[in-house]
Amino acid sequence: MTRINVMQPWLGEEEVAAVTEVLRSGWVAQGPRVAEFERRFAEHQQVQHAVATSSCTTALHLALVVAGITADDEVVVPSFSFIATANAPTYVGARPVFADVDPVTGNLTAETVAAAIGPRTRAVIAVDQGGVPVDLQAIRAVCDPRGLVVVEDAACGAGSTYRGRPVGAGADITAWSFHPRKVLTTGEGGMLSTNHADWAARARTLREHAMSASAAERHASVLAPPEVYTEVGFNYRMTDLQAAVGLVQLERLTQVVRRRRELADVYGKAIADVDGLRAVADPPWGSSNFQSYWVEVLPEYPLDRDGLMARLAAADVSARRGIMAAHRQPPYVHQTSALPVTERLTDTTLILPLFHQMSESEQARVVEVLREPERSA
Ligand SMILES: *Cc1c(COP(=O)(O)O)cnc(C)c1O
Repeated sequence: MTRINVMQPWLGEEEVAAVTEVLRSGWVAQGPRVAEFERRFAEHQQVQHAVATSSCTTALHLALVVAGITADDEVVVPSFSFIATANAPTYVGARPVFADVDPVTGNLTAETVAAAIGPRTRAVIAVDQGGVPVDLQAIRAVCDPRGLVVVEDAACGAGSTYRGRPVGAGADITAWSFHPRKVLTTGEGGMLSTNHADWAARARTLREHAMSASAAERHASVLAPPEVYTEVGFNYRMTDLQAAVGLVQLERLTQVVRRRRELADVYGKAIADVDGLRAVADPPWGSSNFQSYWVEVLPEYPLDRDGLMARLAAADVSARRGIMAAHRQPPYVHQTSALPVTERLTDTTLILPLFHQMSESEQARVVEVLREPERSA
């Protein structure tokens, strides 16, 4: 029996060829491939500007800097997310204020956001958790009249749609991840996208030490003019090696998402009649790339979440505990707002294996345990 992993990136000879070409070119740092990846990504995601970064975490940090979020501001975030969502406000000296999530989608809602807004609130970070599109228009309806910046953490969202458009396109500024756990990977890597030209320009400079001319521009002239460091910047650059992989992966995205949705459909049908299991599904306002295919283990099920995970592990199936709750981690435990849905979902959900190359027999092995956990013991 071979182990079934929760996720495997889909990489092929095209990526190998693309990286080899960059290596042979002698220009391996941020350069023409990054610029091309940004152009293509912006076009694909229907946004005007895309700025490549070293990760989604660094893109979130830059997003808050260019949006003017500073010390003593409050930023509403879900606790039910990877910890980077809560860390981003902390990096700029602001305070993350945790809002609860919808029990069906696991995302922020207009109501949970409204309940967390206070006099110091300046921004909201709405997450497309696990690839499920957040209902952004509803959140904007709460934020826009108050002048709050809406940031979208679409780390998991490449290939998901919201009201007929790619997710991320309707936020003030959006951050993306290309970590191998996500649907489109560059090894590590991220992107910031926005329709605000001035925010994009500042992010572009800030990611490169706030240098007045990029390294690529300076390389273009033999006698490079002296550069100015206009403010305190960062090194949050992506490399051309990564962008070359990203360009190939972007070409594959539609196909990858189609396959993921097929596999999700098989899971959904196979467990629809299982008492005590509820599977993640598309919300009425969009479609998910099913970056994380999670199920909630309800009290009617013969096992609890950890029991089911152990049973899957015995069948050499590597599931993962569901989305974490940031407010339970040491840096944030002192924040005591009541988050009953977050606590329940984080304790009762698990993420099942789902990846492009997953075979029918592999998926059948997972389904068998879910349907008959006692027999598989
Ligand atoms: C993965 C993830 C991140 C972090 O992405 P990196 O590219 O690894 O920095 C941030 N937010 C969410 C919701 C994520 O799932």
